[in-house]
Amino acid sequence: MDKYDAVIVGTGPAGMGAAFSLLEKKKDISILMIDKAPVSTGGMRNDCKMNFTYPIGFPFEYWDEATADRYLAQVKEFLKPSILPKSNIAVYQSRAEKLGCSLLEIQQTHLGTDGGLRLIQELLKRLQDMGVDISLKEEMLSINGEQKFIETDLREIGYKTILIAPGRHGFHFLQDVMQSLGVRYMDNILDVGVRLETRIEHYPIVKDYYDPKFYFPEKVRTFCTNSGNAHVVKEKYVTERGDIWYSVNGHAYAPDAARNNGLVNFAMLKTVRFTEPLASGQKFAEYLGVMASLMGGGKPLMQRVGDFRMGKRSKTATFNGDLYDFEPSLKDCCPSDISLAMPSKILRYIWSGMKKLDTIIPGILHPSTIMYYPEIKLYANKPEYIDSHFQVVDSVYFAGDGAGTSRGITGAWASGIRASEGMLEHLS
Ligand SMILES: Cc1cc2nc3c(=O)[nH]c(=O)nc-3n(C[C@H](O)[C@H](O)[C@H](O)COP(=O)(O)OP(=O)(O)OC[C@H]3O[C@@H](n4cnc5c(N)ncnc54)[C@H](O)[C@@H]3O)c2cc1C
Repeated sequence: MDKYDAVIVGTGPAGMGAAFSLLEKKKDISILMIDKAPVSTGGMRNDCKMNFTYPIGFPFEYWDEATADRYLAQVKEFLKPSILPKSNIAVYQSRAEKLGCSLLEIQQTHLGTDGGLRLIQELLKRLQDMGVDISLKEEMLSINGEQKFIETDLREIGYKTILIAPGRHGFHFLQDVMQSLGVRYMDNILDVGVRLETRIEHYPIVKDYYDPKFYFPEKVRTFCTNSGNAHVVKEKYVTERGDIWYSVNGHAYAPDAARNNGLVNFAMLKTVRFTEPLASGQKFAEYLGVMASLMGGGKPLMQRVGDFRMGKRSKTATFNGDLYDFEPSLKDCCPSDISLAMPSKILRYIWSGMKKLDTIIPGILHPSTIMYYPEIKLYANKPEYIDSHFQVVDSVYFAGDGAGTSRGITGAWASGIRASEGMLEHLS
């Protein structure tokens, strides 16, 4: 059986943060990183905008400001981001405050989907040059916590310490791992909402602030704004029962004036926190996703704001002509009536947030704006950690979005560093 001091499952930012940190602090360490995908699949690969200001990406349960800032400084030092300039922020902030909303001023950088791929490849090469074994297209299947080995689709691998960082898509996989290790967990929080797509002139703030973070009452917020050469995409999910559904998402390529499509997209999300007796917020989310998929003939739904206001279903005809003057960037989507598929309380709060946003920056409620549904974030596994380094049982650590310790690239990277400090204690 192959054996390593440290095994890292997942080459996303959590895995990378841990690997570089381990190497920096213990030069002679043997490390294996595996990933089931040919290239890391998360946000570094999609749009790759990075936020360097607390609390963006740092769940309050695990991070206070001082701790997050300490790790963020290390992430910044390593990634050396060129922070994007911002302007007119005070004007937007004052308009938002008058409506009981707020606009957070965040340090951001944006590499784009193509720039993110280059970054991943460069980082993996650096790791390999530093002696890390990297095995892509290898999937972890199970763990034996007593005898300290994992089983993949290719082999068995022994570890002294292990970090499992499978991201949001590894949600069910991580739950299986927790069940086999006897780790208790909760998953009572989720984000549900719509992704809006409109012309840049209807949301011109993006010229002043690439990814503006507005917070509205009732836990509604803007999230993941993309502009320039920006596209809405769909992500496939499969429930444990085998039902397929899609969540929408968005990304943009690196700035390139020749290829700008003049569009902007961003999510309006509502955070929902369940209490007893609902056992799983994720299962609730899946039912929402499956219902939307049922209505959309296996596709996500889209509706023009103009139709939504009139209480009418959007039809193919709604996607042409006059007021409806741009094509949706996500073609494989069903013109529909999202209010039939979305719980009314969530929709009401999101619509209220959209009206406030349209008052702060007039334009977003233009009839042509498209609302895509559903956008659901499945990243709220909350394991019971036994220490502050995200250890779940002896020598086994979790980190990143799948494990609930982050909600973004920089938070995931910081989580990986934090976990690596615990892993090092095992090795010394
Ligand atoms: C389309 C999209 C766009 C996004 N855009 C942004 C953005 O612009 N900015 C931002 O901050 N965040 C963004 N995010 C969120 C961001 O992806 C995450 O916050 C971040 O990537 C989490 O890092 P992670 O290391 O926890 O997981 P991930 O980056 O998801 O990495 C997990 C890795 O583990 C691998 N894996 C999973 N299960 C197994 C297994 N069983 N065996 C082996 N390997 C496994 C996966 O293939 C994956 O490569 C985006 C997410 C998506 C999906």
